[in-house]
Amino acid sequence: ARALLRIPASSAGRGGSLAQPPKDPLRHLRAREKRWSSELGAPGPSIVYVQVVAAGNRDSGAALYVFSDYNRYLFNLSLLLHFSYSIIQTFLFSGMILTLKETGLPKCVLSGPPQLRNYLEAIKVFSGPLKGIDLVVRPHTEPEYKDETMTVYQVPLVGEYGLRIGMVGSKGYLELQLEKEEQGYLLQRVGSRDPTLVVAFICKLHPKKGNFLVAKAKELGLPVGTAAIGPIIAALKDGKSVTFEGREILPEEVCTPPDPGPVFIVVECPHEGFVDAVCENDTFRRYQEGKAEGHVALVIHITPESVLRDSRYKQWLERFGPTTEHLILNENANTVHCLRSHKIQTQLNLIHSEIFPLLTSYQKEATFSVPVVRGECLLRYQLRPKPQWQRDVVAVCNSSEFVAEALKLPGFQDRVKECRESLQAGPVRSGEESNYPEIVFLGTGSAIPMKIRNVSSTLINSSSTQALLLDCGEGTFGQLCRHYGDQVDKILCNIAAVFVSHIHADHHTGLLNILLERQRAFASLGQPSSPLLLIAPTQIMSWLHQYHDNCQEILGHINMIPARFLVEGAKVNGPKAEALISPMLEKYDFAEFQTCEVRHCKNAFACSMEHTSGWKIVYSGDTMPCEALVRMGKDATLLIHEATLEDGLEEEAVEKTHSTTSQAIGVGMKMNAEFIMLNHFSQRYAKIPLFSADFSDKVGIAFDHMRVCFGDFVTIPKLIQPLKALFADEIVEMEERKEKRELRLLREAIVASEKLMDSENKASKSIAASKKREHAENHQEGPSKKLKTAN
Ligand SMILES: [Zn+2]
Ligand SMILES: [Zn+2]
Repeated sequence: ARALLRIPASSAGRGGSLAQPPKDPLRHLRAREKRWSSELGAPGPSIVYVQVVAAGNRDSGAALYVFSDYNRYLFNLSLLLHFSYSIIQTFLFSGMILTLKETGLPKCVLSGPPQLRNYLEAIKVFSGPLKGIDLVVRPHTEPEYKDETMTVYQVPLVGEYGLRIGMVGSKGYLELQLEKEEQGYLLQRVGSRDPTLVVAFICKLHPKKGNFLVAKAKELGLPVGTAAIGPIIAALKDGKSVTFEGREILPEEVCTPPDPGPVFIVVECPHEGFVDAVCENDTFRRYQEGKAEGHVALVIHITPESVLRDSRYKQWLERFGPTTEHLILNENANTVHCLRSHKIQTQLNLIHSEIFPLLTSYQKEATFSVPVVRGECLLRYQLRPKPQWQRDVVAVCNSSEFVAEALKLPGFQDRVKECRESLQAGPVRSGEESNYPEIVFLGTGSAIPMKIRNVSSTLINSSSTQALLLDCGEGTFGQLCRHYGDQVDKILCNIAAVFVSHIHADHHTGLLNILLERQRAFASLGQPSSPLLLIAPTQIMSWLHQYHDNCQEILGHINMIPARFLVEGAKVNGPKAEALISPMLEKYDFAEFQTCEVRHCKNAFACSMEHTSGWKIVYSGDTMPCEALVRMGKDATLLIHEATLEDGLEEEAVEKTHSTTSQAIGVGMKMNAEFIMLNHFSQRYAKIPLFSADFSDKVGIAFDHMRVCFGDFVTIPKLIQPLKALFADEIVEMEERKEKRELRLLREAIVASEKLMDSENKASKSIAASKKREHAENHQEGPSKKLKTAN
C-alpha cells in the first residue's frame, strides 16, 4: 500500500539530509506566512523536485521525497505495510515520525489506505504517544487534497490477491498462500490492512504565472518603480493585455510564458494481481489520452521487475507517450549506501579476483520502447522551474575510477605483481582439491554496521547445496544480496541452520529478516519450505517470542537447539531438541557439532563443526582468550577468531571482554589450528586492522565479502603486502595514534618513577591514575566513542 506523508513546510526529518537541513526547521513555514500575507492568493510554487530516498532494493525499500518551496512530502514510508514486516522497519517509520516531532513540526498529514489510522495506533505501541505533533490521517476515500503546492488525487487500486503470483510448482503456490494468510492475520492485528488495496497518487502542481520582465517593461516605457506599476503587473501576469498611454501591451511582451503545472504520478503495482487494476484504470487512461488537465511529466513506478516484464504493464507504461519520463524503483536499483563497499571491493578485487569477488547486482531488467530511468539513491527529477533529471547529488559508482585510484597508490602495483609471481612459483592448487567448504565473510566488524564492515556474519557453504550461518547481525540479508545477486534465493534455501553465538545486537538482529526472506525464497523457487534450525543461547527465544506475539508469526519457521545442549558432556534435556540433532549432523555430513561457553557475556558460545571427511571449522564468537575454546578447537583446520582490538589495548580488551590480535593468534597456535582467520574488528579499524608482529603464514584477516576455501590458505598470507600498500594511509594513521599513546605512557611512567624518588607511596597511585586516564582516552577513539552498547 502506498502512503503519502505530507509535511507542511519543514525539513523532512531523516530526509532533511537530502536538502540542506535548515538551521531553523520552521524557516520555510515562516517564510511562507510572510509571502502569503504580502500577496493575495497563493502563487504556484517556483521550485519543485522529486527525489529518491530509497531506491527500492530488497534491503531498503522504496521511498520518495518531494520538495517545493512551500511543502515537503514523503511517499511510501509505510514500508511495513508493504512487504516485509520486520520490526526494524517499524522502528524506522516510527523513528522518522519522532524525528519530525523533534524538529518542532506542528502538523503532519498522512494520506493513504484506510489502515493508516490503525497503523499509527500500532506505532504508538512501539514508540510511545506522539504528543506535540498533529498527525492528520486522510483516508483514500477523500477524492482530492489541495495545498499550496499541488492538488493530490488518490486512486485506489483493487488487485486480485494471492492469484497469479507467477509461481511455479504446486508446492510453492501453496506455500505462498499460506504466507499471505499469515500476513493477513498480522495485518488485522497491526493495521487491519485490506491486502487487495493499494493507493496511487496523482499530483498536479498549481499553475505558475509568468515572470514580469522589468527590463523589457522599461524599454516599453511602463512606469516601473512607481506605484502605478502594481495593477499593471498583476493584470499582465494574469494574462490580460493592458493599455498604457494609448498603447496596448500584450502579456507575452513583458512576461515569460506561464507554466500550466505538470503532473506526476506515484503508482505501486506490488505483484501481477494488480496489473489489471493499474492498466484498466480510467483515471490513468484519461491522462494517457490527454483528456485530463495537465501533462504527465513523470510516472514513478514502485513495481517489481516481474511486473515490469508483463506485456500488459509494459504497454500501459508506454501509452503515456514520448514526453513522459518514467522512474522505476524496485529490487534492481543501484543504491548509494553501498558505494563505499563497492569501492573497496573493486580495489580488493585487483589483488585477488576470486578471494575478493566483485559485488553483483540483479540482472534481467525489462526493456521499453520509451526511456525509463532506474532509481538511484538521491536522484532527482526537477519539475520546476525547468523539467530535468538532476544527478549532481547522486554518488556515481565508477569502477574504473576506483581502479585507477588504487593503481596510482605508491607500491601497490609492484606488491600485487610480486604477490602473483610468488603464487605462481608456490605450490599450485590441484584442480582436484575441493572448493568446499567455502567460507564467505558477510560481516567482519563489531558493534554497529558500517559501510565498509557490516556486523558479524559468516556463511559456511559446506557443499553446493548446504550452508550454515555463523551469527547473523543486522544487514546480513543485504550483504547476501550484494554478494550473490540473482543467486540469493538459492543460497537462502541452502541455509538450513544458523548458529547465534550470543545475544548482542551485532550478532543476532539480522535473523528475523533472514527468516522471512528465506520463507519467501522457498516460495519463489517453488521449493517446499523447511524450518530453520537455530542453535543459540535459549535467551534468544524471549526476543523471538516478543516478535511472534506482537508482529508476525515466525516461530513456526524455527526449530531450536539450545547451544548449551551441544557442550561436550552436556545432557540434552528435551526430546524435541534431541530429535533435531542427528538429522542436522546428517544433513551437513557432520561427524560432530559442538559448542563451548566462552569468556564474554553470560551465555556466550563458540562452536566447532567436524565434517565426516575430516575437516574441522571452529568459530569463537566474541570472547577473551578462552581455554575451553582451545580444547574444543584442537587441531582445527580453520579457526575463525574475533580480534576486536589491536595489540597494546589488552586492558580495554579485558574490560570489554574481547581479544586483541595477538591473543586471537595465540589461541589458534595453542589449539594447533592449521589456519586462523581474524574478524570482528572494532569499527575504528574500518578499512584494515593493525598487523601485529606475530602474523605468520598461518594467519589472515577477514574482509566483508571475502570468499575462501581451504586451498586458499597458502595464498591468504601473501595478500598482506598488497593490502598494506592499498591501505598505507590508514595504517600510517593508526600507527601514529599508537605511537602517541605509547609515548604518553612512557612519559607518564617517567614522571611516575621520578616521583618514586620522593615517595613510593605516592608514585604507585600516580601510575594507577595515569593508566586510568590512558584507558579513558582509548575509549574515545574512532566510532567507538558513541558505542555504549555491548558487542
Ligand atoms: Zn560482537
Ligand atoms: Zn558481544
